[in-house]
Amino acid sequence: MAKLTVEDLPLEGKKVLMRVDFNVPIKDGVVGDDNRIVAALPTIKYVIDHGGRAILFSHLGRIKKEEDKPGLSLRPVAERLSNLLNKPVTFVPVTEGKQLEDAIDNMKNGDVLLVQNTRYEDVKDGEYVKRESGNDPELGKYWASLGDVFVNDAFGTAHRKHASNVGIATNMPGKAAAGYLMEKEIKFLGDAVDNPERPFVAILGGAKVSDKIGVIDNLLDKADKIIIGGGMAYTFYAAKGIKVGNSLVEKDKIDVAKQILDKAGDKLVLPIDNVVADKFNNDADTKIVEGDIDDGWMALDIGPKSVEEFKNVLKDAKTVVWNGPMGVFEMPNFAKGTLEIGKFLGTLTDATTIVGGGDSTAAVKELGVADKLTHISTGGGASLTYLEGNELPGIAAISDK
Ligand code: AMP
Repeated sequence: MAKLTVEDLPLEGKKVLMRVDFNVPIKDGVVGDDNRIVAALPTIKYVIDHGGRAILFSHLGRIKKEEDKPGLSLRPVAERLSNLLNKPVTFVPVTEGKQLEDAIDNMKNGDVLLVQNTRYEDVKDGEYVKRESGNDPELGKYWASLGDVFVNDAFGTAHRKHASNVGIATNMPGKAAAGYLMEKEIKFLGDAVDNPERPFVAILGGAKVSDKIGVIDNLLDKADKIIIGGGMAYTFYAAKGIKVGNSLVEKDKIDVAKQILDKAGDKLVLPIDNVVADKFNNDADTKIVEGDIDDGWMALDIGPKSVEEFKNVLKDAKTVVWNGPMGVFEMPNFAKGTLEIGKFLGTLTDATTIVGGGDSTAAVKELGVADKLTHISTGGGASLTYLEGNELPGIAAISDK
């Protein structure tokens, strides 16, 4: 990798500023799914095992007014992290000032400290000033002044330019490194997009074409096949003159879909048949139809022939990237297409299989096949930006080797 990694940094006795992604669900002061905390442990442990003093920064949720703050404190995360590390974690309930500076000065080698939610800086004296989210230059400089080196392990925020990732890194030239999680994401997504073992098949789904046009554009030049499922498939149907009934269609994107189809030739694989419903409801009447969808019916999942066709395209793949569900998988009666594809990916043991995005990740976890896949990206938005071929500011700001 062309960027510095945590193993390139001096750590013994150093104040190691670390940007992690602890943006986890919290209910009634208790952390729910702690996957993101667990994912950050290898880098944190490496730092403290090598005598570093780990000073952790993360955002949590969105803060737009003072009242948002109490419910978005990182204190419960400090408790969970302490349990996971089996050692005390000092929580500092502020993001700047003497209390924070003193707490850092009091740290010993191997200690861990968690700073309050970086987005507390977005609201000052009741005003929405976005110091963190807007990468206020003074804030990045101040946080950088608190440490000796910087480790960015928050891939999930890498597509954003915040003071706590880009700001700190740009103020620590030559001393900003990627953590293990960041390194892993860059390796798998980077190799898949820029240097894939072929055939390389992308599976794109989800509601909207508009969200994925950049990805399709970029992957058309790189992938051998692009499978399209989910709501976005029906804008392509409309572009091909296939009747869509009441299915989800983005009318203003039909022309773009036509252009993509012209450019893609047989690279783009659309569903052959669909599960259509008479209303947007799990208890709707349903049937399976090939091709044209009549008025009064909407496609909410891909049909069994589509599943077979998609499996056929996938079976010889050596690299697969999947983002977005094949149907309205939140409703059990329309989850089958998504689950079948997830299950099949789990059988492709010779291929590098990568899943990004919350919904597809939820599907592979629900199926219990997550551990059979090569890589589950921790960042939905960040992985999409990567797949679009765009630079991620959080990664770009990390020092070159
Ligand atoms: P995205 O956030 O773009 O990945 O889209 C995910 C959402 O797309 C999920 O909430 C799905 O329910 C929705 N979705 C998938 N297929 C369809 C469909 N055929 N019609 C309507 N919504 C869909």
